[in-house]
Amino acid sequence: MTGRLDIREVVEVVRGVVGVADSVALHEPEFSGNEKTYLNDCIDSTFVSSVGEFVDRFETMLSARTGSRHAIACVNGTAALQVALQLAGVRANDEVIVPALTFVATANSVSFLAAVPHFVDSESRTLGLSASALAERLDAVGERGPHGVRNAQTGRRIAAIVPMHAFGHPVDLAGLLEVAEAWNIPVVEDATESVGTLYRNRHTGTFGLLSALSFNGNKIITTGGGGAILTGDDELARRAKHVTTTAKLPHRWAFDHDEIGYNFRLPNLNAALGCAQLEQLDGFVARKRRLADQYRAAFCHVSGIQVFVEPEGARSNYWLNALLLDESETEQRDKLLDELNDAGVMSRPAWTLLHRLPMYCECPRGHLLVAEGLGRRIVNVPSSARLGHA
Ligand SMILES: *Cc1c(COP(=O)(O)O)cnc(C)c1O
Repeated sequence: MTGRLDIREVVEVVRGVVGVADSVALHEPEFSGNEKTYLNDCIDSTFVSSVGEFVDRFETMLSARTGSRHAIACVNGTAALQVALQLAGVRANDEVIVPALTFVATANSVSFLAAVPHFVDSESRTLGLSASALAERLDAVGERGPHGVRNAQTGRRIAAIVPMHAFGHPVDLAGLLEVAEAWNIPVVEDATESVGTLYRNRHTGTFGLLSALSFNGNKIITTGGGGAILTGDDELARRAKHVTTTAKLPHRWAFDHDEIGYNFRLPNLNAALGCAQLEQLDGFVARKRRLADQYRAAFCHVSGIQVFVEPEGARSNYWLNALLLDESETEQRDKLLDELNDAGVMSRPAWTLLHRLPMYCECPRGHLLVAEGLGRRIVNVPSSARLGHA
């Protein structure tokens, strides 16, 4: 489509898709399954806290649904990512490659280990980390040595690569894994937004050495707050459970710990909610995919803006729908956001790129041209499952 963006037209088209209620949230949870039953069971059992059968059940269900050999429930997605990185071998003063176009928690989880985020560009086809930008960056600064790959400019080790599946759309995992393998750097997937998303018929979060899921209130399924670590490795799974549960040695009565462990357990109460939510995931994904189709159909003749469509080989959960302004229309973005929000349609831009935040502006980075462009162009629009009616 060529031609100018007409803001009023865009607002009308979005309202046509989401309905004309007074106000439509960006994303709201839905509790139409066994939530109250399981929560009541949980309360009746008195096991509402850090042990209980719903935690085991939730982990078993997660493992079955994702096809991951192991799933370890955690207090939230950020904690899951922090522990996944630690178990992948990230240590203080290492660098970890992350996209700049992501939620701040991706980089924070690196910082919590006293490691340093190293930003690499994204690609427009997936909105995620670019395999070619990664290869280029490693060729430019990577130096192979006895202890792994060093950033020749900073002297620090590059200990892990963290692709993030933005808005539920999978990154180019084949391309990224190929580069990561060539450099022998472990991949930890930030799959916090992509619960229910498949890449080449396999669930995201099962490609890296480890990965993190999130069940925060705004994600596709929620435990109130919560997350999980996925891994196919038996020993890493055992370590993940151990360090997220205070590293306590199992014993009938002795309180003995063999290392510094976190209290990152998911309470049973939250796991109960998670079991009920996970039972409904397929339905949520189906309705969110229908909503994405409705946005796509509604926008096909609108000038100056397009609907982001899942990349090839993906079956996305369409967690958040993204409109992409033409580059020539980006100066209209803030006005469009004002008008959408004035019309009761909650909408927002992508996150401020992480290298623009005060705590990350000095971090090492490659050029971020594509991420910068996407950052100017993205507008997220309401995406709750309930909006995807037939
Ligand atoms: C939600 C999210 C997280 C963190 O999950 P929490 O459960 O909120 O801690 C991490 N990274 C990304 C990209 C996210 O969207």
